[in-house]
Amino acid sequence: MPEPNLPKEFLRLLKPRLPQMVATLRTFVEAESPSLEKAAANKCCGIVAEEWRKRGVRVERLAQKERGDHLRITYWPNKPRPAGQLLVLGHYDTVYSSGTLRQMPFRVSAGKAYGPGIFDMKSGIVQALYALQALQETKTALRKRLVFLWTSDEEIGSESSRKLFESEARRSDAVFVLEPSFGPRGLLKTARKGVGQAELIVHGRASHAGLAPEEGINAIHELAQQLTRIEKWNDHRRGVTINAGIIEGGTRTNVIPERARAVLDLRALRVSDMRGLEDRLRDLRPFQRGAKLDVTGGFDRPPLESRMSASLFARAQLLAKQMNLPLDECTVGGGSDGNFTAALGIPTLDGLGAVGDGAHSAHEHILINTMPARAALLASLLATS
Ligand SMILES: [Zn+2]
Repeated sequence: MPEPNLPKEFLRLLKPRLPQMVATLRTFVEAESPSLEKAAANKCCGIVAEEWRKRGVRVERLAQKERGDHLRITYWPNKPRPAGQLLVLGHYDTVYSSGTLRQMPFRVSAGKAYGPGIFDMKSGIVQALYALQALQETKTALRKRLVFLWTSDEEIGSESSRKLFESEARRSDAVFVLEPSFGPRGLLKTARKGVGQAELIVHGRASHAGLAPEEGINAIHELAQQLTRIEKWNDHRRGVTINAGIIEGGTRTNVIPERARAVLDLRALRVSDMRGLEDRLRDLRPFQRGAKLDVTGGFDRPPLESRMSASLFARAQLLAKQMNLPLDECTVGGGSDGNFTAALGIPTLDGLGAVGDGAHSAHEHILINTMPARAALLASLLATS
């Protein structure tokens, strides 16, 4: 059993480190790291790697062809064989292209720190770094090996990193995701919707709207009927949403259109609903005789179901309570790499990163005073898992 006062001990140690945490955060934020700019991302990767190397841990830089390199950091201070592995997962890439710093420089004002990618999720990496430091300085014995993975392409779908973090996750007993928390109270994200996209193309038959209307098959009318049917599949109570976000079709008003198209955003909280939605889309049949439907696409990220995070969250809440820190949870509509690890059946707790707001926007910021407690919470989770 862990010492009952461990979280408090970590917090006591980390609180005076806040100025250093902010200084480290500044160097990370000022190293711009857009997912699509390899040279810039690599530079940031080097700076992050250097900070971790200072702690005497094993740092591996995993070279990538097209994207920035990924970083794998391993910590196992004890002599005997570890009883398993814990994965701490996050990304250092941001959605901001190089030069954004000129319009939104790193700055601290009224207890908030601003800058591109500061909330999503460079401060998460800083908090993990100081969580490690707290474990080291207190010489906390760990039961499991710790692997920290910082990837370079989460914001663009994790194509180059997915295999890597999935195989690390398979070796792990739990995954802790340092994505931003939700709202000013720093809610953990214990459920995330699965996200997908589908395209529905209707093929009709063109004809003159005045001279030979009976020979035409109107693809737009058909699409409209299909969308009316699809709209009824929305079930907000179950967390199932389907949104026609783009439609197009037709050429001129006096031509019966032969083609119409809709692009749909798909979201679901449960794997069974995700499959159900995909099946229903595939089973669509035309209303008009002679019309043809083409359906492509589906879910890219499966849902992070709350049952995959429930026990980890319960423990996080207990540990937070030992620091007199209220901790709550929420469900969010967007996905992260935690969706993939949960789908593998590995317990996953997400939203452990910074407290702040404005991800992907000009007012992106964090509440700096929350950093030591968030780092202490992570250290406690790693020490007791
Ligand atoms: Zn993120």
